Amino acid sequence: MTSDLDLETLAIHAGIHRSQFNEHSEPLYLTSSFVFDSAAQAAARFSGEEPGNIYSRFTNPTVTVMQERLAALEGAEACIATASGMSAILACVMGLLSAGDHVVASRSLFGSTVNLFTNILNRFKIETTFVSATEPGEWQAAVNPSTRMFFLETPSNPLTEISDIAALAAIAHQNQAWLVVDNCFCTPALQQPLKLGADLVIHSATKYLDGQGRVLGGAVLGNRDLIMEGGIFGFLRTAGPTLSAFNAWVILKGLETLGIRMQAHSAHALEIAQWLEAHPNVARVFYPGLPSHPQHRLAMRQQKTGGGIVSFEVKGGREMAWRVVDATKLLSITANLGDTKSTLTHPATTTHGRISQQARDAAGISDGLLRIAVGLESPADIRTDLARGLG
Ligand SMILES: *Cc1c(COP(=O)(O)O)cnc(C)c1O
Repeated sequence: MTSDLDLETLAIHAGIHRSQFNEHSEPLYLTSSFVFDSAAQAAARFSGEEPGNIYSRFTNPTVTVMQERLAALEGAEACIATASGMSAILACVMGLLSAGDHVVASRSLFGSTVNLFTNILNRFKIETTFVSATEPGEWQAAVNPSTRMFFLETPSNPLTEISDIAALAAIAHQNQAWLVVDNCFCTPALQQPLKLGADLVIHSATKYLDGQGRVLGGAVLGNRDLIMEGGIFGFLRTAGPTLSAFNAWVILKGLETLGIRMQAHSAHALEIAQWLEAHPNVARVFYPGLPSHPQHRLAMRQQKTGGGIVSFEVKGGREMAWRVVDATKLLSITANLGDTKSTLTHPATTTHGRISQQARDAAGISDGLLRIAVGLESPADIRTDLARGLG
């Protein structure tokens, strides 16, 4: 597959290896192991002398198609699929870091990612310093002689802060550290971190890559040395948080429509953001596609659109925010995102409910804040649904 094809084309054609049946749609190989022709072949496969499948914890042909396709979309040499987004982050850390290593991470990360770095990896003597997503100077100041990795998400959840990937890649590389970017919110359809200097990209395929809220999955992408020789694949095949063939097949089918879905999510989100910004009961809207966003220019340089997530602060605090949530009939009250169905969350009492009020205030998660992952329903119907409680 030549890499001069456009993303929309690669999303449909990359990675296909037809079987002897010449099927048109990608086959689903539900098999835990693979059969050898002889004892000699088994030995050659196990020793690595002969390439090929052995056991689905190591490789599976359906998973391989999904990996090759996602790698083509991100412009990566290599991709390893994992059971979830969290296991992609775990594989990346366990593959590359050791006790005594230090990580500098954005303060604005997915809750489970913060939990992994603070409450689990610290028990294995991997220490993390959290810094501002938007202040590169803080990243440089946090570096110490043990720093080996920078970790961020952009846009962040739920306030859509934008980190400057190219600037942080330069600081990471001056300090012999890798920059890892969780590209879940944008997907390669809107942002390709490796082209901006990142060393590794993480995905929760559970979100936009599947795109229809069906399965869990994840991936780590980067150059072949880091992924294959660097230990990430080695960790995965030994420890086992591998992507199932069935989930890979579902995600593969999701990828085929990624380009048009992300365009539609973005167009609908922009329309909702503009409507909210003009609404008298809304105090503030957080959406990178709006000129009022503090990093609008950086966002428009780094991503193709503002993406599909809009956060906004209602006037009237928690009471008013809950009224908006409870008045909806169409939007789903759930924390997932990246689905065709729009989802609505009150971060202060759900995703960020277990951190202290002080920590929430520091993170800018006010009681009136709501987050919508704008789906593919008609934007007019989404507006009508929000207006039930908002007025
Ligand atoms: C959901 C999410 C994850 C974790 O992915 P899972 O598939 O739920 O394990 C990681 N990062 C971001 C930004 C997410 O939204």
